Amino acid sequence: MRATLIYGAGDVRVEEVPDAALREPTDALVRVLRACICGSDLWPYGSMEPAEQGARIGHEFVGIIEDVGAEVSGFKRGDFVVAPFVWSDGTCDFCSEGLPTSCRHGGLWGRDGVDGGQGEAVRVPQAQGTLVTLPVGEDDALLPSLLTLSDVFPTGHHCAATAGVSSRTSVTVIGDGAVGLCAVLAAKRLGAEQIILTGRHEQRTDLGREFGATDVIPERGEEGIERVRALTGGDGTHTVLECVGLEPAIETAFGVVRDGGVVSRVGAPQYADVPMDFGPFMRNITLTGGVAPARAYIEELMPDVLDGALQPGKVFDRVVGLEDVSDGYRAMAGREALKVIVEP
Ligand SMILES: [Zn+2]
Repeated sequence: MRATLIYGAGDVRVEEVPDAALREPTDALVRVLRACICGSDLWPYGSMEPAEQGARIGHEFVGIIEDVGAEVSGFKRGDFVVAPFVWSDGTCDFCSEGLPTSCRHGGLWGRDGVDGGQGEAVRVPQAQGTLVTLPVGEDDALLPSLLTLSDVFPTGHHCAATAGVSSRTSVTVIGDGAVGLCAVLAAKRLGAEQIILTGRHEQRTDLGREFGATDVIPERGEEGIERVRALTGGDGTHTVLECVGLEPAIETAFGVVRDGGVVSRVGAPQYADVPMDFGPFMRNITLTGGVAPARAYIEELMPDVLDGALQPGKVFDRVVGLEDVSDGYRAMAGREALKVIVEP
């Protein structure tokens, strides 16, 4: 079968790899219908050292079950399913506590002999705990929005949920990437009335307004902080959703959070330190967030997608075939595309 491998910065290739096949009785074999490129795939794409051996990549996909192992129940050949971006057993103590990303028997796509998502098929370990059935046809118009349940929408939701966003909290969202826009959508869904989005890419911030942003702040740094404070009586917002992962973003987050407020981060951090010194201490700032346990949120978020109330799939603005996946990476890295669907 064909699948995507990354060999280093700027070097993504589609190659012939061994066919995905059942190995354990807890596996399922899934033919990938649609995958997508994640903002987090752009970190290795931007900085990975050149390697002799390519590494499988991709962790967001929906597909059709081709086969299931003897110990997998509740799924059968032909089922349309979504896979969250971390696989997990669904039964261990961490999974039971709603944290499948810490599953004792789970892991990441593309590592340790597990297929990556950007390919023709995937062996899904711990299939019963990992996969969720999509109760629609595979050519459904909802497909792009259902694909976001794999990562980007639950990640935006995790940011808003861990921050404690509700109808009583004002919100600042840092970042107009696909995660930031999904965080806006999630904050709106949780009842927030004031949602300030920082970003300067007009097409993206326009989608942010459609998703529920009430104000858009294009300025960065001190100027951006002043603008948010001016919109909030000088105090900042109760919650700040940091959806970038770079140092200036987390610094801005602490600059715009109201005393007693919460900063939540879901942008994969490319920094080592956060400003949690005496100043934020005296202001009683809470820092939360982390990798999103997407699997734990899919059932909660799916109904609003199925009935069309929310359309997170609008973050996709380009589709490429598997053979052209490198064009998709180039477009996303160059910010020509917001988020790219890969169609095997
Ligand atoms: Zn588990």
